[in-house]
Amino acid sequence: MTLMGQILQSDVIVVGSGPGGATVARELVRAGKRVLLLERGQDHRPRSYYGTYLGALLYTDRGSLLFTEEGLNIVRPMMVGGATSMFCGCAAPPPTWLKADYGVDIDAQVSETIEELEIEPLPAELRGEASTHIAQAAQALGYDWEPQPKFMKPARAQSFDCGAKCMLGCRCHAKWSAAEYVDQAVAAGCNLLTGARVDHVLIEDGHVTGVEGKWNGKPFAAHAQTVVLSAGGIGTPRILQASKSSAFQSAGQGMTMDITVMVYGTIQGKGIGEEPPMTWFWENPDEGYMLSTLMDPWLLYPLINSLKGMQYALTWPRWKNTLGVMIKLKDDISGGVFPDGRISKPMTDHDRPRMHAAQQVCRRILIEAGARPETIFTTPLRGTHPSGTVRVGTMVDENLQTEVQGLYVCDASVFPEALARPTVLTIIGLGKRLAKHIQGTSLVE
Ligand SMILES: Cc1cc2nc3c(=O)[nH]c(=O)nc-3n(C[C@H](O)[C@H](O)[C@H](O)COP(=O)(O)OP(=O)(O)OC[C@H]3O[C@@H](n4cnc5c(N)ncnc54)[C@H](O)[C@@H]3O)c2cc1C
Repeated sequence: MTLMGQILQSDVIVVGSGPGGATVARELVRAGKRVLLLERGQDHRPRSYYGTYLGALLYTDRGSLLFTEEGLNIVRPMMVGGATSMFCGCAAPPPTWLKADYGVDIDAQVSETIEELEIEPLPAELRGEASTHIAQAAQALGYDWEPQPKFMKPARAQSFDCGAKCMLGCRCHAKWSAAEYVDQAVAAGCNLLTGARVDHVLIEDGHVTGVEGKWNGKPFAAHAQTVVLSAGGIGTPRILQASKSSAFQSAGQGMTMDITVMVYGTIQGKGIGEEPPMTWFWENPDEGYMLSTLMDPWLLYPLINSLKGMQYALTWPRWKNTLGVMIKLKDDISGGVFPDGRISKPMTDHDRPRMHAAQQVCRRILIEAGARPETIFTTPLRGTHPSGTVRVGTMVDENLQTEVQGLYVCDASVFPEALARPTVLTIIGLGKRLAKHIQGTSLVE
């Protein structure tokens, strides 16, 4: 217990080890702060099941069977590294509106990260033949698809082996994850406590003083004058709601999700299932959606499609001959994460026609790529970017501070609108900027 006592007093507490928390923790510990990083999940990377179907069941919320009230499936990984342990490794710069409309300028931090992690598209020969064929079909129709920049370096893998299964967790080591920032933070002296679920923050006279929660089922408290919540778009509003301060009344009211579907079609030749996911993309900023090359891993394909109907699950034998185009919609803020555990994400009257229009574009692309029209169908709705639940401008200021002094939020929760593009580079940029801000604040103090 003495050791615990030492660990649980620090300068800064960071809650959650996804890209938001891992970045803030690494930057602050390197700047000489005593940092305690609390993560409710475990580090599953050394386990033999990491990157398998069994693993994905074990380290996602409710074994990946988390649904909104409306039936939208949410994939919510909970382990060291957060959702980057299962992400597709895509990188996109922050949307220009983040700086122009909300005063959040992270350009320098994003450029630094691109350089640091050597983010770039995969070489042409590794983008996948069928995926490249989809991009060329789209280009022939006048849609200007581009190679997708990646947090992925094939040279790191002994044998580069990336396919749709990459989303279960990377086994060939080509893909970066935020767990690497956690490793670097720990190497620099950060105290990492896994299995530590934070329930609420402690506040005295309008200033944060720490957090309380359960560590491997037992109650614990930790104290610091600065607390950064990075528990993700679902976890962070829940902590704020349980903290019972009038400052957090609107936490979790409204959310965005970048609502996602895949449109599948069958061809005579090989499909994209054994190729790296999302190697090409195209954005339609006017309508507010993004398209990319993506399909579900082999065993998930029938499970997910059975939610739509058995006839769709029964297309499973055609998995190897399937082309997939993913749609990510810039969905309106709607529904929310509620204190009684409910999550709601209804599509609005503004969302539905745009999703329909995007599906028509995908259909045209797939037919141009050689898919038989009668085989084309759209998967059920899902969400992998729960965000916008503690928004900049509404619940946190442009420095990501809440109304409570010393209490910050740094994760996808703070997005003021749906990004409708890969989130992680933006979150890392926010994390680096926040770490600088916290250092500046403590110098002033
Ligand atoms: C299958 C999939 C593919 C994706 N592909 C891409 C992609 O290619 N590119 C991209 O940019 N984005 C992608 N994303 C999205 C991206 O991974 C997430 O948006 C991003 O990781 C969110 O970061 P975060 O820091 O907000 O939270 P998270 O990554 O969700 O991390 C939050 C962490 O907090 C922990 N936590 C939660 N509650 C508590 C608590 N009470 N106490 C302590 N710890 C807690 C969780 O266990 C988790 O580890 C993908 C997501 C998924 C699921």
